[in-house]
Amino acid sequence: MPASILVVEDEPAIQSLIEVNLQRAGHGVILAADAESARREVQKALPDLVLLDWMLPGMSGIDFARQLRADPRTRRLPIIMLTARAEERDKIEGLDVGADDYVTKPFSPRELMARIKAVLRRNAPQATDDAVELGGLRLDPATHRVTAGAADVALGPTEFRLLHYLMTHPERVHGRPQLLDQVWGDHVFVEERTVDVHIRRLRAALEPLGLEGLIQTVRGSGYRFSAQ
Ligand code: CA
Repeated sequence: MPASILVVEDEPAIQSLIEVNLQRAGHGVILAADAESARREVQKALPDLVLLDWMLPGMSGIDFARQLRADPRTRRLPIIMLTARAEERDKIEGLDVGADDYVTKPFSPRELMARIKAVLRRNAPQATDDAVELGGLRLDPATHRVTAGAADVALGPTEFRLLHYLMTHPERVHGRPQLLDQVWGDHVFVEERTVDVHIRRLRAALEPLGLEGLIQTVRGSGYRFSAQ
């Protein structure tokens, strides 16, 4: 699944270099030239990752990163700092503030894309194109197919995203609000029982294969994908 990536960068040339490369990699790009407009974008919808320039007009990237880390809604948002500063001390400050990685300018687009992929893999595996295999199921985001052995599992787009999220975060209980945020997008106003409807459809699609037990209901808490 393509990731939505917020690029906070005030230099137009670098901004468009990043934009072109992200789009080529299949990602959705949101551009902001300063922390203030980045904050507005984040309020509208949570991206999967933020590429954040350190030196910005107005509030610095490092202070914006600090703000993101202080807010429960954005605490876990993956952040890659972009900077012209190459000093070790700066790097440590960047990582201290909770950035997931740190890329020094000038960077090669290839290196940046590789870093983005690594951070997404660690923090938002549902936003990568990596196939997931678990519990006898194989889900391939690149081809949008789910298979169990030789059998195809036909899923609607929402069930596909739901299964992808659950399979990339297995053995953990996910509450309905959390699933809504992660699968439907936060700030999308959908009732919590919508989750139940799609879980039911997902189970129904897995049932002919005898795999519906992979999706477990945890009473009072939510749902879990368990291959155990
Ligand atoms: Ca800058």
